[in-house]
Amino acid sequence: MKFLTYRHKDKFGVGILHGPEQFIDLGQDPSLPTDMTALIAGGELTLSKVRELVAQSGTDKLQTLSSVEIVAPIPKPRKNVFCVGRNYRGHIIEGARARGIEVTFPKVPEFFTKPATSIIGQDAGIRRYQNLTDQLDYEIELAVVIGRETRDVSVEHALCSVWGYTIINDISARDLQRAHGQWFKGKGLDTFCPMGPWIVTADEFGDPEGHRLALSVNGGVRQESTTTDLLFSVAEIISHLSAGLTLEPGDIIATGTPGGVALGMTPQAFLEVDDIVDAEIHGIGVLRNRVIP
Ligand code: MG
Repeated sequence: MKFLTYRHKDKFGVGILHGPEQFIDLGQDPSLPTDMTALIAGGELTLSKVRELVAQSGTDKLQTLSSVEIVAPIPKPRKNVFCVGRNYRGHIIEGARARGIEVTFPKVPEFFTKPATSIIGQDAGIRRYQNLTDQLDYEIELAVVIGRETRDVSVEHALCSVWGYTIINDISARDLQRAHGQWFKGKGLDTFCPMGPWIVTADEFGDPEGHRLALSVNGGVRQESTTTDLLFSVAEIISHLSAGLTLEPGDIIATGTPGGVALGMTPQAFLEVDDIVDAEIHGIGVLRNRVIP
């Protein structure tokens, strides 16, 4: 199942994608939560209620996607979005080359976070911030949504904690990253975390390895790889992060980006106003955003 969060006038709700253009509104069953984090925390019991509703929903109960605004699947998570830096070989090499430093590969996942206020959803604008940066960049990433309280989990059991998967575009102001000496500020501005368009449940997505991911700017492919190329796998990331640190239902982890970012291009082609960025992962869909002034 693919779970989306929508806004209609001032009301938020959760729906299940049905075909390319319709969804089933979970609000039909008043016993179901109307908020994605609460729904995830409801675990298997809530999921089975959702399956029942989907099975009983006739075509008269379907709504069109165009009648609502699709927002980020978890618009306001309780914590920052966890992220892994440097996790694909191609991106590590291009990053080191662009900075004129020696290529080194991390021995453990390098974690940082993006503030919840940076999150936007499908079709929302990525702000260009002309006064703050001249180097606005994109990074397609597979993102994991945690489904249960998890601490000190082994690699072997880590995938049992995954509720679903979505797409994150880890927007980065390269000059701000460098100026501040770490990644938080340059990756944390408002609108710098496009997420969505929806969450695909772990059972439907299957093995997180082997999924093609590609990012294009105005239709021209910039990044193309598969999740098999992750240096640290999804299970290894969860195991490392949960060591002595409690993960909770609704927590989000972005797993790193492959090569092909603007920083690594010759000449560099950073994002400009009106650029359209499509981030696609096989088995999830396409997350589309436009750069706005
Ligand atoms: Mg990243």
